[in-house]
Amino acid sequence: MTIKAVGETVRCYVGLGSNLDEPEQHVLTAMDQLDCGAHSHVAKSSSLYRSTPIGDERQPDFINAVCCICTQLCPRAVLDHLLEIERDHQRARCVDRPDGPRSLDLDLLLYGDAEIDEPGLTVPHPRMHLRRFVLLPLIEIAPELHIPGCGSVCGLLNQEQIKRQRVTPVIIQA
Ligand code: AMP
Repeated sequence: MTIKAVGETVRCYVGLGSNLDEPEQHVLTAMDQLDCGAHSHVAKSSSLYRSTPIGDERQPDFINAVCCICTQLCPRAVLDHLLEIERDHQRARCVDRPDGPRSLDLDLLLYGDAEIDEPGLTVPHPRMHLRRFVLLPLIEIAPELHIPGCGSVCGLLNQEQIKRQRVTPVIIQA
């Protein structure tokens, strides 16, 4: 695990999604696991949102959220940490259904203002600007945010094709 120079902290954003077993629980537990003290902490978490699946529609709705994390890890180490948490949730990958149901999906959306295009790691996440289930939780916790190469989150949310996607806040029962 590569840790950056002591004191050098980067703000990054992680997208969370689940539509299997108890999706809310998977997402909330993953938020706790992202807050791992030594090198990273969760600075802000969005509310939970329910979204209709995009692409592969024969599956349950998703629960989504976004966290802002302050980290001393390099981007690749953040990704490794996300994949480790997915494995902890028994995330299985189905080659035939890349957009199919999943116990937990974690995406590194943004890493500071870095633009990274390496095998196995693209940042900003290449589809984040097309997904209302990412943009809506993102604007809740970072209203002024710009996505390098794509513009403001606010502007993206005003696009007609994004407005058509069904994403609603999850009401937590008291
Ligand atoms: P999936 O979980 O199906 O969305 O795909 C995960 C794979 O996408 C991982 O093995 C990563 O190597 C790759 N990947 C590339 N860029 C990213 C990113 N920004 N966040 C998460 N996974 C990424």
